[in-house]
Amino acid sequence: MFYKSTRNSNIKVESATAITQGISEEGGLFVPESIPELTLDEVKYLSGLNYSCRAAYVFKKFLTDFTDAEIQYCTDNAYSTKNFETESIAEISQLFDGTYMLELWHGPTCAFKDMALQILPYFLTTSAKKINIDKKIVILVATSGDTGKAALEGFKDVEGTQIMVFYPEDGVSPMQKRQMTTQEGSNVGVCAVKGNFDDCQNGVKAIFTDAEIKQKMSDAGLMFSSANSINWGRLVPQIVYYISTYASLAESGEIAYGDKLNVVVPTGNFGNILAAYYAKKMGLPIGKLICASNVNKVLTDFIETGVYDRNREFFATCSPSMDILISSNLERLLYIITNGDDAQIREWFTALAQTGKYEVTDAVKAVLKEEFFGGYCDDEQTKATIHDIYEKYSYTCDTHTAVAVKVYEDYKKATGDTTKTVIASTASPYKFSASVLEAIEGKKSDIDEYEMVDRLAELSDIPVPSALADLKNRERRFTGSIDKSEMNDFVAKEFGLN
Ligand SMILES: *Cc1c(COP(=O)(O)O)cnc(C)c1O
Repeated sequence: MFYKSTRNSNIKVESATAITQGISEEGGLFVPESIPELTLDEVKYLSGLNYSCRAAYVFKKFLTDFTDAEIQYCTDNAYSTKNFETESIAEISQLFDGTYMLELWHGPTCAFKDMALQILPYFLTTSAKKINIDKKIVILVATSGDTGKAALEGFKDVEGTQIMVFYPEDGVSPMQKRQMTTQEGSNVGVCAVKGNFDDCQNGVKAIFTDAEIKQKMSDAGLMFSSANSINWGRLVPQIVYYISTYASLAESGEIAYGDKLNVVVPTGNFGNILAAYYAKKMGLPIGKLICASNVNKVLTDFIETGVYDRNREFFATCSPSMDILISSNLERLLYIITNGDDAQIREWFTALAQTGKYEVTDAVKAVLKEEFFGGYCDDEQTKATIHDIYEKYSYTCDTHTAVAVKVYEDYKKATGDTTKTVIASTASPYKFSASVLEAIEGKKSDIDEYEMVDRLAELSDIPVPSALADLKNRERRFTGSIDKSEMNDFVAKEFGLN
């Protein structure tokens, strides 16, 4: 199977190139030229396998240039109890009759990005080898908190890679800072930047596009690659857990093979929900895709009106990983819905870059409405939802997941749809202890973040993830802090380029 660029259908590469390159040279995203089929018999077969084998089975359909042994090498390394705290990898727990929480946060950094970032380093190094790149892969990440840590854990001690993460000195939570500055591994680096997230991001972009640095890297046997969420190697692992969940629910008799299942996803970059859409297009019996946003509701408005407009106020919310106004992966959805109309995609995304806005055709609007339901809620409703489901169902959920629960309740009220439903739970409640605790207790606490974790452990049935439990006692390894103008020099020094 080949991969095309959303902005130029003439570009055709194999998955190894798509993954190594990350983004197509003219700015488009790589998409499979056709979507492979998954039959109900195959879903039945998958029911009998563990997560790692289910993943390998799905990857074989998409990464057709990989050998079976290469795929197994990747899945064995990523999806084991070495990295995840539950045997099932993606844990399903029933919230109430017919509504299930898909807990995607039992990995090393307690958020769903581990599901993809645990395997991406293996995809990347395997891909590079396949296309005869013998350079060491260098990953640079600018992070506002979660992605940086998940990438560090993924790339930690993976042979043939090195990773450097920049974070805004005063722009991450104390817990996030501690998670990153205590990072273990022989190939990792972390550095604070005196500035905000945009400064970090612009600095990394400038390094990526600096021809002189690129040449020096190449001379030194190094190459840059990207771990960000537009890489196909991050999207394809996310398709797996929707298929796996269906297989598990059918195996345990919660649903019958062939029954429709709705999916609710708290959304930012549109990656996670797009993976569910791919699973549906493959043939998995998914009903409605419910897209949940916080007050940065650019996607809710888009599904409602067909107009994407990022020209609006930006809000910092208690679900910060969804504070996004440009949902990059939407480009892939529109490419599929327009049957690969690359000229149309170019037009819309050029307009987005130039004016911050585009409007899709009536035909696309109709498909959006049929496949998706968009909804949003504010911080107060998010916290009220955490409180409610804690009281009603003794279940503790994080702020992002709570947005999904609330939007699902609104969906049910609006439609009366009683189809069984899976809600993607994207972070451990411990990761956002301050907001979760405030929601449950009805007041802000003035204790520090470690005490909040202990307090939450007293209130909740969910054990403290080991990665957060021993954070207090970990040694701080990275104390560097630089000006944004020093990022180039820092990278040059770090990789011995002078
Ligand atoms: C990244 C993230 C999201 C948003 O996922 P997208 O794939 O960007 O839509 C939601 N919740 C949490 C906790 C996240 O870290």
